[in-house]
Amino acid sequence: MDEDYPRTLSELEDRFSTYAACLEYLQKIRWPNGFICPQCKAKEKWKTGRDLFHCANCGAQSSVTSGTILHGIHKPLPMWFRAMWHITNQKYGANALGMKRLLGLGSYNTAWQWLHKLRRAMVRPDRDKLCGIVEVDETYVGGEKPGKRGRGAAGKALVGVAVEMNSNEDDHALGRIRLQHLEDASAESLIPFIQDVIQTDSTILTDDWAGYANLNAYGFTHVSLGSKELKSVHLVAALLKRWLLGTYQGAVRPSHLTYYLDEFTFRFNRRKSASRGKLFYRLVQQAMMIDPAPAPSLKGPALPFLSGQDNSNLDPLDADQDHNI
Ligand SMILES: [Zn+2]
Repeated sequence: MDEDYPRTLSELEDRFSTYAACLEYLQKIRWPNGFICPQCKAKEKWKTGRDLFHCANCGAQSSVTSGTILHGIHKPLPMWFRAMWHITNQKYGANALGMKRLLGLGSYNTAWQWLHKLRRAMVRPDRDKLCGIVEVDETYVGGEKPGKRGRGAAGKALVGVAVEMNSNEDDHALGRIRLQHLEDASAESLIPFIQDVIQTDSTILTDDWAGYANLNAYGFTHVSLGSKELKSVHLVAALLKRWLLGTYQGAVRPSHLTYYLDEFTFRFNRRKSASRGKLFYRLVQQAMMIDPAPAPSLKGPALPFLSGQDNSNLDPLDADQDHNI
C-alpha cells in the first residue's frame, strides 16, 4: 500500500478519533493483501463482531492487534495513536511524565509502560545489516569514573557502537548506526555483536584492541586504525551519552538500556527524515510486527541507576524510573 499517514497533529486527531478508524488503519498496515490468520496463516475467515476474525481453517479468533505490541488494546486505541505521534514527534525523546500529561493518563506507571512498549517497536525485527565500510568501537555509559577496557566497572554498562560510512562522495555524513548492550569487551562479546549487525563481506575499521584482532577469520575485511582516526563512532558515542543525560538524566536501568538504545537508533537513523508523519507510520508498521510485551515482562529488577549523576535535586518523576508496576 502507499505510505498513507497523517501530516500534522490535527490531521491525526481528525482521522483517528475513533476506535474503528484506528482499527481500519492497522488492518491496512498489518494485512495489506487481506487477513492472514496469525496462528495458521490461512486466509479464509469470517468476522465475528466488529473487530474479531474467526479463522475458517483452525478456528482461532484474532483481532488486528493479536500477537503484536498492541495486543489486547481496544477502547484506548486512539490514545495509543496519539502516544505514537507524540513519541515520534519529540526531537530528543519522550518521557513518561510528558506522556502522562499529554494523554491525561491516570498514573505515571501507565505512561511509563506505554512508552516502554513503544520503544520495543522502534527496531524492526527483520532489520537489514550494515554494509560497506563500518566503524566499530565500544563505549561505557553511566558511572562517574572512566571504565577500564575489557573489565566491568561499577554502575556502568558497555555499549557496542557500529557506524556505517556513507559511500556517497558528495555526502560525508554518517550512515546508519547499530548499538548493542554488551557484557564485556572480549572477542566473545564483540564478534557476535558484529556478526549480528554487519554483513560479512564488509570492511570493518576498529582500533587495535585485541577483541577485534580475529575479524578476518569471520569473513570481514578488518582494518586496524589509531583510535583518534575513528571519528564517526566516537561522535555517535558522544551523542548517545549526551542524549541519555539530557533526556533521561542518566536515570536508565541497565536492564532497560537495550530499549533506550533502540530509541536512540530509531531517532538517529531517521534524523534527516523530512516528515514526522513518516516516522509515525514506521512506528505503527513496526508495532504490528513485534511480539506482545505484557506488563510483567516490562518490570525491571531493582538495580541502582546506571548513573553516577546526582539526581537528588530532580523531581523523581522526571527521571524515567519505574515505580511499583
Ligand atoms: Zn487459523
